[in-house]
Amino acid sequence: MIEEEFDAIVVGAGMSGNAAAYTMASQGLTVLQLERGEYPGSKNVQGAIMYADMLEQIIPDFRDDAPLERHLVEQRFWVMDDTSHTGMQYRSDDFNEAKPNRYTIIRAQFDKWFSRKVRQAGATVLCETTVTELVRSASGKVIGVRTDRAGGPIYADVVVLAEGVNGLLGTRAGLRKMPKPESVALAVKEMHFLPDEVIEQRFGLQGDEGCVIEAAGTISRSMAGLAFLYTNKESISLGIGCLVSDFAQTMESPYVLLDNFKNHASIRPLIAGSEVKEYSAHLIPEGGYKAIPQLFGDGWVAVGDAAQLNNAIHREGSNLAMTSGRIAGEAIIEIKGRNQPMIRRNLALYKTMLDKSFVVKDLMKYKDMPALIHTNSRNFFMTYPQLMSQAAQNFMRVDGTPKIEKEKATTAAFIKARSRWGLISDVVRLALAWR
Ligand SMILES: Cc1cc2nc3c(=O)[nH]c(=O)nc-3n(C[C@H](O)[C@H](O)[C@H](O)COP(=O)(O)OP(=O)(O)OC[C@H]3O[C@@H](n4cnc5c(N)ncnc54)[C@H](O)[C@@H]3O)c2cc1C
Repeated sequence: MIEEEFDAIVVGAGMSGNAAAYTMASQGLTVLQLERGEYPGSKNVQGAIMYADMLEQIIPDFRDDAPLERHLVEQRFWVMDDTSHTGMQYRSDDFNEAKPNRYTIIRAQFDKWFSRKVRQAGATVLCETTVTELVRSASGKVIGVRTDRAGGPIYADVVVLAEGVNGLLGTRAGLRKMPKPESVALAVKEMHFLPDEVIEQRFGLQGDEGCVIEAAGTISRSMAGLAFLYTNKESISLGIGCLVSDFAQTMESPYVLLDNFKNHASIRPLIAGSEVKEYSAHLIPEGGYKAIPQLFGDGWVAVGDAAQLNNAIHREGSNLAMTSGRIAGEAIIEIKGRNQPMIRRNLALYKTMLDKSFVVKDLMKYKDMPALIHTNSRNFFMTYPQLMSQAAQNFMRVDGTPKIEKEKATTAAFIKARSRWGLISDVVRLALAWR
């Protein structure tokens, strides 16, 4: 198919692969990017909030032509039980700035745009091409790839694995282990279409302003999980995800959870009358710092979801993907500039640079959080949401009960549900994991 030898082959045209390919191609490296989808983005699923700062570091003027939906001026965090939500809400006119910080996007459109930039930077991009195998030298160094297209192997000094969370290629090659069921969430998502003026009216938005809701509680039926609702221009993305290990244990169905979320009294009016046009399901790496596999070796580096770089606590993934892709590209450029071979010792530069970035620092900060949440999911996703709702309702309902008795009833309900020591231990463990 292609006889040439490249400086770098990038496997995958998602956020991380595009960031890596763009970074290297724009600095003059010969780059081949291979994507199994019909077009970049055709296979990719995201909520999707895109974090501008990380894209700006790659393409500073992206706002000129990137397909952006709404810039976010409001975020709602909800703790839900079956009939209520207890919320925290932040909205600021400061987010109506010249260069907004977060946007909703639709990945199928966004990835196509990003890929166009990659081509314009000089990379060769081939879609409908699945990389089936990594090619190695006698010493074990990765020296190229084989694909499902006719023809022999394609060679490169270095292969960037940007193949997403499943990472089948890296796993098959023995470069990493299959992610564990307790380290990945399965998320399902729907796109609900509504006229833009209806969305603006329902969420109190003007023009391109956007609002997002992130919700946890009894909607995930005591599994560790999160639901979301994001406003696009003329659609609402809505979804829910829980750990694969929890789904396996409880035998709950993701579709049922999504239906319950959509039919919740707090959500139903927001999507009323919408037309559902798209449905998708995808995995999300949620193991945090402790689940990060080996990131580099002789002739290869792993970036983005393929390297499990996802901050589930802050619900960030695409920005870690773009940043790790960019940093991998920069490390490769630097090694090439020194005329050094792309061997493990030199590619360690990628890890050194990544360790200094927010990507690893953030994941390190919350390294104990995934285990804490996952092993206490019943308390965090069932018991406490129910107690919070009871406490709020007790506080608000005016029924002649003296306030002192109401306060005692609330305290008694918490102690009955978790005991004094249970409560203290939950607070201490949460504080320790958060510190
Ligand atoms: C439901 C959901 C909601 C999310 N919401 C958000 C959000 O709001 N904000 C956020 O920042 N992150 C979010 N994320 C996470 C975010 O989507 C990921 O972190 C991000 O897409 C990772 O980018 P990536 O390039 O590493 O992987 P991907 O985007 O998955 O790209 C991998 C690419 O590799 C290709 N590929 C795989 N194997 C091969 C092969 N063998 N040969 C050729 N090509 C191959 C795939 O087709 C794909 O195009 C969400 C994820 C999900 C599932």
